[in-house]
Formats: sequence, C-alpha cells, structure tokens
Amino acid sequence: MSSKGFTINFSDKCIVITGGNRGIGLAYTRAVAQAGANVAVIYRSSANAEEVTAKVGEEFKVKAKAYKCDVSYTDLVNETFKKINKELGPISGLIANAGVSVVKPAFELTQADFDKVYNVNVFGVFNTTRAAAKLWKETGQKGSIVITASMSSQIINTAAGETEPLTQVFYNSSKAAVSNLTKGLAAEWAQYGIRVNAVSPGYVITDQTLVMDPKIRDFQAKSVPLGRFAEPQEMTAQALLLLSDYASYMTGSEYFIDGGKLIF
Ligand code: NDP
Repeated sequence: MSSKGFTINFSDKCIVITGGNRGIGLAYTRAVAQAGANVAVIYRSSANAEEVTAKVGEEFKVKAKAYKCDVSYTDLVNETFKKINKELGPISGLIANAGVSVVKPAFELTQADFDKVYNVNVFGVFNTTRAAAKLWKETGQKGSIVITASMSSQIINTAAGETEPLTQVFYNSSKAAVSNLTKGLAAEWAQYGIRVNAVSPGYVITDQTLVMDPKIRDFQAKSVPLGRFAEPQEMTAQALLLLSDYASYMTGSEYFIDGGKLIF
C-alpha cells in the first residue's frame, strides 16, 4: 500500500476479459480501463462488441480491442491469446467471465443443452485460463486469473414465491465445477507465480436476469438480505483487488458478492 493509501493503478497492465462486451463483463472492462489497463474483450457474436469496446478505450484513453472468439474452441482460443499478447500485451491478467444458461426442467434437458452450458462455463473457462497460463509459463511471467463462478456453485435458487427450484441444473452444476476448477488450477500453477481465484456473483441485473419472469425476480430480490439485485459494477472491486499486486498472497479462493444471500 502506498503512503497515499489504497490505489489501484493498472497502467502497466493488459487484461483480457471474456464476455467483456456486456453485462458483468462490460462492468469489468470499464473498471480495468478506468484503472489504466489496456483491455482485450473476447466475445462470441454480438454485432456491437467492437464498437462498445472501442468506446471504452476512447473514454479512458487506453488501448481497447474486441476479439471475436468462441471460448469453447481450444485452438482458436490459443491463437487469439497469442494475437492479443502481440497487439496489446504482454497480457498480465485474465477475467474468465463468459457464461451461458439453459433454463428448462431436468426432464426436458438434452445432451445438446449439456454441451451448450458446459462447453462455455467449464471448458471455455479452462481453455482461456490455460491459454493465458501457457504464455506466462513460457516467459516466466507472473499472472492473475479471476474466474466468474456464481453463488449457484453453492445453492439452488428457488422460483417465484414457491419452494420449487428454478430449473437450471446444468448451469448450477457447471458453476460448482468451475468453483472446484479454480482451486485445482490454483494448486497446479502456484509454482509458476500464477494466482487463480473466483468471484461469485449473486443476483445481478444483466441480460441473463432481465429475461426472467418479473415475479421470480421480485421473489429473489426479497430473499437477499440487502433486498435487491446488484448492479454489474458492484462486482468489480473484488476483481480489481485480485488482479492487483495487493492480492499477492491470495489464490485458490472463491469470493461471494451476493448481498448476503448465502447467509441463510
Ligand atoms: P450476459 O448474458 O449478459 O453476457 C454473456 C457474455 O458472455 C456475452 O458477452 C457473450 O458474448 C459471452 N459469451 C457467451 N458465450 C460465449 C462463447 N462461447 N465465447 C465467447 N464469449 C461468450 O451474462 P452476465 O453478465 O449476466 O454474466 C456474466 C457471467 O456472470 C457469467 O459467467 C454468468 O454465469 C455469471 N453470473 C451472472 C449472474 C447474474 O445474475 N447475471 C449471477 C451469477 C453469475 P456475446 O455478447 O457475443 O454473446
């Protein structure tokens, strides 16, 4: 900590953020850019991702560029990370944030639904974290990885005013998998100076939750001790801390930003 107190200055950093073009990811993109980092956004298909990213770069006067890359394809991910490292790097941190859900009763779920969720939420996180770690291992550089898991790594949400669970068992179980993946990768890569942690949001207002029945949203908000859903930017402080050198002794942990939801 400096004599001026706790300040985060990322002007020597390049941070990659998967799903950084909207929702929680966009809040991360803005936060790291505001702290002075160059930022590479990885997205899958949103038509405005390049424009959104460029605007963040202009606003905070940093290099910001969007890269179209489906995180579930290993070779494409490795190539994209090499490209980012050359164009904006060297990469110093990664927020593996891209995630998807399929909301359906378990009796209706298919193999395709499983692949859709696990290929992004688990294999996509694995692909991107390993691509970053490979680059760092090659050069002996230290790095920090923040994985977006979810409080649903620990609990099953309930639906509107009822006791029945919200039907997304693949999503919930994928987040439990990624919570464990965080610990496993942290254990393997600590020897290289690579730290791996998870930030697990509670309910956050994004496209993922705006499509929900408002009755369910109201019920869920009331079940949170702080009484509301979070704004995406309320997730960012913990991620900034974990990406910074203040977190040099933090690895293998999952931090819940959930308005107190997991108390009960
Ligand atoms: P959004 O649905 O708003 O955005 C998802 C992002 O992921 C988009 O940028 C999307 O890109 C990207 N993405 C999806 N699939 C791929 C892929 N195959 N390759 C590359 N990028 C991909 O999500 P949220 O902001 O709501 O959620 C962000 C993370 O936070 C997720 O991991 C989610 O599970 C987690 N989370 C969210 C909570 C919430 O309440 N919203 C609660 C707990 C956890 P594109 O725009 O191109 O489609």
